[in-house]
Amino acid sequence: MGRCDRQVKAYGAMAGGLKLRPRLVPEPLWWVSLANLADMDPRVLELWLDEGESPPDVQALWRSLERSTECEICGSRAQELDEVWEYGELDGGAVARLVGFRSLCSKCHLATHLGLAQIRRRFGEAFFWIQAVNGLSRTEAARLVDLAVEVWRCLSSIPRSRWSVELPALGESEVRPRLERLMTSMVRSERFRPARGWVWTPENPKVSAPNVQSALSEYPGPLSIVNEAREAGLKVLRQELSHAVSLLRRPSKLDGTPTVVGKWIVFMSTREALKLFRRVAEAIGSGSVPALRAKLSWKREDSKAVMVYTPNFLDPRGVAEVARWLASLGVAGRMVYKPDVFTLAGIYRSHPSLRPHIYEFEPAKVNVEGGALEAWL
Ligand SMILES: [Zn+2]
Repeated sequence: MGRCDRQVKAYGAMAGGLKLRPRLVPEPLWWVSLANLADMDPRVLELWLDEGESPPDVQALWRSLERSTECEICGSRAQELDEVWEYGELDGGAVARLVGFRSLCSKCHLATHLGLAQIRRRFGEAFFWIQAVNGLSRTEAARLVDLAVEVWRCLSSIPRSRWSVELPALGESEVRPRLERLMTSMVRSERFRPARGWVWTPENPKVSAPNVQSALSEYPGPLSIVNEAREAGLKVLRQELSHAVSLLRRPSKLDGTPTVVGKWIVFMSTREALKLFRRVAEAIGSGSVPALRAKLSWKREDSKAVMVYTPNFLDPRGVAEVARWLASLGVAGRMVYKPDVFTLAGIYRSHPSLRPHIYEFEPAKVNVEGGALEAWL
């Protein structure tokens, strides 16, 4: 008996004959799909492999898959290829099996991936489509979704270390065992997690961000912060810093919850960025540095952004400490520091009067060629 048998059975009983069945991806498997791996820079995939092992060419594989022009659920024009995954329990753990591919229209695809629809704030649209395609009442559709969520919740509670990935849909191809090893390693990894175009480190177990009210109550005013930051070796952009503080006091201007978290943005060649990111992830995972977490872009580009978060931009000493630590790991170019409130307020490099960061740090007189850093602001 598996721990999720009851939920799987209840869902199967209701979903069995339906054309469009929502399939929520258990949390440990989020973002580990062929479509996402095909999108990633292959050098980034090396993070999950043994040293010297090269990743399989997932992009070539993804492009070679057959696609049909008609949605296999509703018959309208197909736009996307859906990976058909089955999740089952095995020996106290669980296995995710890719059993096939289907061409789907974007609506059916969205409704299948209900969790992603929610993240993209398109749940209502997906829910309506589940109702329409299956001919269900609102109450029946709600029941179907509830049961799917219960299966998801149960499967998600199985620890990531006990999951493995199998790819029977790839037949006996040469690439299959390599890809199964890679994807299993991605699912099990505690150090590197893919999500939304980035690879993330886990949160630092010894660092947490203060809440905005307590950070503001200890805020000594602009002059002290500027002096403190300069003493710590940072260049301060005063107007931008004041604006960031004012945004904390006016949460209605923000698309999200206000926070004093911010990040150093470092830009370097892909090889250097990967080397740096491995060391950063190791230090953050062990709690030996004051950084909160970090992320690395997975885009296929010759240079990459690494973002290293600190818990409180109103603590310039803490912010500077992380910058000096990054310099000690070999970061040689200019680093800029952007508070998350700027991101939430939509302040990017295109802003008419503000620059998109509040501090700068120059470890040495070496600059990465070109103005590519700006592309990340
Ligand atoms: Zn369709």
